[in-house]
Amino acid sequence: SPAPDVGRLGRHLAGGEVSARTRQADQGEENTVAGSKIVVVGSANADLVLDIDHRPAAGETVLGSDLVVTPGGKGANQAVAAGRLGGDVAFVGCVGEDAYGGMLRRSLADAGVDVTHLRAVDAPSGNAIILITPDGENSIIVSPAANRHVSVEAVEKVRPAWAGAAVVVLQLEVPLETVVHVATEAASAGARVIVNAAPAAALPPEVLAVADPLVVNESEADFLLGQAPETTAAPETTARALLGLGARSVVLTLGGDGAAYHERDGSGGHVPARKVTAVDTTGAGDAFVGALAVELADGADLRSAVELATAVAGIAVGRRGAQASYPDRSEVAR
Ligand code: ADP
Repeated sequence: SPAPDVGRLGRHLAGGEVSARTRQADQGEENTVAGSKIVVVGSANADLVLDIDHRPAAGETVLGSDLVVTPGGKGANQAVAAGRLGGDVAFVGCVGEDAYGGMLRRSLADAGVDVTHLRAVDAPSGNAIILITPDGENSIIVSPAANRHVSVEAVEKVRPAWAGAAVVVLQLEVPLETVVHVATEAASAGARVIVNAAPAAALPPEVLAVADPLVVNESEADFLLGQAPETTAAPETTARALLGLGARSVVLTLGGDGAAYHERDGSGGHVPARKVTAVDTTGAGDAFVGALAVELADGADLRSAVELATAVAGIAVGRRGAQASYPDRSEVAR
């Protein structure tokens, strides 16, 4: 199949040609070019969001607000964030043959994401039931369902879609063996692999070894480092410690404090967050990762990529919803 070569070629396209492909996506034409520059392999979930006064205790029934259903899932969120910024991005994942699956597919396609390899499977679409209390804290129950079908076998069947990408983006809401497989195979094919270790789970050394960067928030960092939250060190120290786990580079997101990054050559630093009134932080980390992918795919260095990602995530926290809150280029520029 010639597809992997198309992807490799894509990596070397001049900026002008890249933006021509981007323009095509902006115009809403389906982007069916094999081997997009950025490929997100991951989860898609319908977010079922309810405001509640307090979390129900065992045996208790509480009343909630009207149910709001929005497209989510870490993988799909990251692909939408990248697509909205004009990135040449494809999504590899699974949804059910149900209404939620249709909603998830439409949201990706509307953001200019190539959904050729979003498969409808014989299972319900993944769901996240999100309960939000008045203090702004949320409790989330994830039902992986169709996301469990993102298996090694399934991704191997569409290998040309990701094996030639310039940047491959992974998170941990699909089976871990799939993450291991795609991370190692894509890296050997020359891709830059962004590993967002969320939700927190132990990562095999072969995944850490190709993560460039490993992206985690503070609680995921604590988990990977096996440290209690109270003992959390200065962000730069934590970023360096994460690098010590074997990653090629590290980005540590710090909520309202922005993000810290660290690279193998010893360079690192901190990018402060935008001063915004946080309305809803759902999917902020995903907006961050999607933006990071677009900048790194365009050849930016890690610091510039973290700067754009911080700006994009800062806009996303100012609005409700995950995918619905993600900005396009012109808004970021403003
Ligand atoms: P996650 O959403 O994965 O838990 P964080 O809370 O670290 O991750 O947020 C990810 C990014 O979103 C941060 O690095 C920052 O850029 C942005 N962000 C989050 N909360 C705020 C906030 N209150 N003000 C401004 N930016 C924020």
